[in-house]
Amino acid sequence: MHPGIHVLTSAYGQQFSFDPGSLGVELLATGGPGAGRRWEILHRPADLADWLTRTRLAAPAPLTVSDLRIGVADLERVRHLRDTFWLIAPAIAHGRPVDAAAVEVLNGYADAPPRFRVDAADLVRRWVTPVTGRQVLAAFARDALTVIGTPALRDRLRECAGDPCQLIFLDTSRPGNRRWCSMERCGNRNKARSHRNRRATPTAAANPDPGRATPTVTATP
Ligand SMILES: [Zn+2]
Repeated sequence: MHPGIHVLTSAYGQQFSFDPGSLGVELLATGGPGAGRRWEILHRPADLADWLTRTRLAAPAPLTVSDLRIGVADLERVRHLRDTFWLIAPAIAHGRPVDAAAVEVLNGYADAPPRFRVDAADLVRRWVTPVTGRQVLAAFARDALTVIGTPALRDRLRECAGDPCQLIFLDTSRPGNRRWCSMERCGNRNKARSHRNRRATPTAAANPDPGRATPTVTATP
């Protein structure tokens, strides 16, 4: 799987690939505050380290668990950053005012990100290790701030149009018309629903839709 594209599992067990579109937005799919607690996949520092190796952080140079030094306090800060970004991203996606204190939390985390170096012997990029939890935090904060602080990107921050899906993504498609978290999931479900609605009698259309799933997601290896 390409770094940054995650396999999620719906509440009904359907697996689908999801591209959040940017590093900071990837973090939103690992859980969240309030009702998002049931989606939580980052329970221990090792969970975070393992997940990080599959994110866009691993795109510039390969990243392994042994490259990372993540402590309990780092995990707590990353979850805090994520839960704070959850106060911001849906507001932007729906054109609502943004919580100023939440933005300041992100600013406070935007320290120095990890860096790679090119080995002169083989011209291969490798991370300067250990990659610390503080650097990881900075990478996520900087990306989130880049998205919300750049009008052209901010306008592309979307919530999946699937009902009641609440996955957030950055639309990186050229035409900028991405509506769904995943065609495999909400895109196809919407297609099927439109098809049913076209065929349905008024009585049938009034019935509850058994195809709806809760937005509960968990990442799977
Ligand atoms: Zn969706």
